[in-house]
Formats: sequence, structure tokens, C-alpha cells
Amino acid sequence: KQIEVSTPKRTKEIIARHGFSFKKSLGQNFLIDSNILNRIVDAAELSKDKAALEIGPGIGALTQRLAQEAGKVTAVEIDQRLIPILSEILAEEEHVDVVHGDVLQLDLAKLFQDKFAGFSKVSVVANLPYYVTTPILMKLLEEKLPLEHIVVMIQKEVAQRMAAKPGGKDYGSLSIAVQYYCTTEIVCMVPHTVFIPQPNVDSAVIKLSLRQQPAVAVDDEAFFFRVVQSAFAQRRKTLINNLLQLTGKEKRPQLTELLEQIEIDPGRRGETLSLDEYAKLSQALKASGL
Ligand code: SAM
Repeated sequence: KQIEVSTPKRTKEIIARHGFSFKKSLGQNFLIDSNILNRIVDAAELSKDKAALEIGPGIGALTQRLAQEAGKVTAVEIDQRLIPILSEILAEEEHVDVVHGDVLQLDLAKLFQDKFAGFSKVSVVANLPYYVTTPILMKLLEEKLPLEHIVVMIQKEVAQRMAAKPGGKDYGSLSIAVQYYCTTEIVCMVPHTVFIPQPNVDSAVIKLSLRQQPAVAVDDEAFFFRVVQSAFAQRRKTLINNLLQLTGKEKRPQLTELLEQIEIDPGRRGETLSLDEYAKLSQALKASGL
């Protein structure tokens, strides 16, 4: 049986033996708590007929656990210095591949073809580098990869924004973008003490489960997201004043009438509209040609 990586002692031993030094700029905070790892792995609902994509394996604490549960694991790591360490830690694991690269630059559709052929269920499971959490998640969702779940450790506030319901200060264009594609569940809050080195922020594990169909039906997705973006452009402004930035100020009478027709009060704020209301608004705006 393999020795577990995720204890403080073993983590320190590995990094000392390889002369590894942490790069803050790459969001390197390694997990040293097996209970949290268990929470992450359990939430991913893996089994030997499923595969996992890990982003940023570090020295392999989570990778090792994924290898125990999944039929195939591919881990993408940007830092060349970690590749020999991962080779050592994962030497016995024939169903684990480590890919050296920047996940934001990789052709993920091709990676899925190369690495996950024969697996109908693939989940992303990761302790993400915090400086690029949102771009990574938006890339995974927008490329419409055939994913089952995305279970990731991220900054607590970002998790709260992704899972937020209408009406509160956390609800914004990120909530809508994520909930359009996924149902959300906050798995647990995580204190900064379970990492080496400790980050300056608190973290949370969030589980995103991909919907079969987007939450709402819209004819033009890009336009829908543009409407959402503009509704939140300035949070203190009313919906109509934000939307006028999109249509041009001279359209106030027509826009007022359109909002009244679809029974959305022009004086509301963007943060009070549900996904359904945004879909209705984007459909009506598109049809009106405003
Ligand atoms: N999974 C390990 C753990 O839980 O201990 C390490 C997690 S650490 C928060 C984030 C990891 O992502 C680091 O190993 C870092 O080098 C890697 N990383 C940062 N940016 C990346 C990128 N753009 N593509 C792939 N990996 C990246």
C-alpha cells in the first residue's frame, strides 16, 4: 500500500527531499488534511467505471486518492518542477497520467478523446489555484465538455457567489453563468490551516453537477449572457438604466414598454431577477430588435 502524501510530515519530507520551493504566483497551497480530501473525493461519486480530470495536482495528495477510486485519472500540472515528484509518487499507478501544461491553453476536447476514451462519465476534481478559478471553471463549462460533476476547492467567497440565489449581494453574473449549466452545492467550508503554506483566504469545496439541458432555453446564448452582464454592470443602478447601456439611451420608452409587457418592473435591480426572468428578458429583447 502506498504511503499517504497528505500529512504535514510527509508533505514537508517530499518537498525538502526534492528541494521544492512554493510559487505563490501559481497558487501553490498544498492540502495536508486527509479528512478534507475524503470530503472532496466522496462528493465526486467516483467508481472504477468513471474517470477524473485533476487540475493542478501539486505533489499528488489528491491524485493519489483519485487513483484509488477512479478507473482513470489525468492530472494537468503547469509547474515543470513538480513533474518528477509526481512521477515518483504515482510510479505504481498505471491508470494515472500526468500532463505538463497550462489548463487554460490546453485543447481539452482533444485531451478527453486521448485520455478518457471508453469512459462515459468524467468528473473534474481539484484543489484549484485561486488566481485562475473563474477562467478555469468558465472554460470547462463553455467548452461543453461531457462532464458529470465538478468538485473543486476554491476561495469561499467565490463558492458563495456561484451558489447564490437571487436577491442577495452574492448573486451576480457568475451565479447565473454557473447555474445555467449546473446545479450547485456547497460541500463544506475549509479553514486555511489545512494547507501548506496557508493561503490568506478561507476556502470552500463546491460541487457543480452538469445539467442535461441548460436551466433555461434561449435562442442566442451569447446574447443572453450579454444581457446578464449589462444588467449587473453597475450594481447600484436599476435594471432599465443598466440595460440602456446596451440599447442606447434614446430607447428608454421602448425598453420601458418591453419590460412592462414581460411583467418585469424596470425599477428592479439586476440582482433580483431569476434565471427564468433573464431568459424571458433576453428572448424579448432579441425579438424586439432594440
Ligand atoms: N492538488 C494539490 C493539493 O491539493 O495539494 C495542489 C493544489 S494547489 C492549490 C494548485 C496547483 O495548481 C499547483 O500545483 C499549481 O502549480 C497548479 N497550477 C497553477 N496554475 C495552473 C494552470 N494554469 N494549469 C495547471 N495547473 C496549474
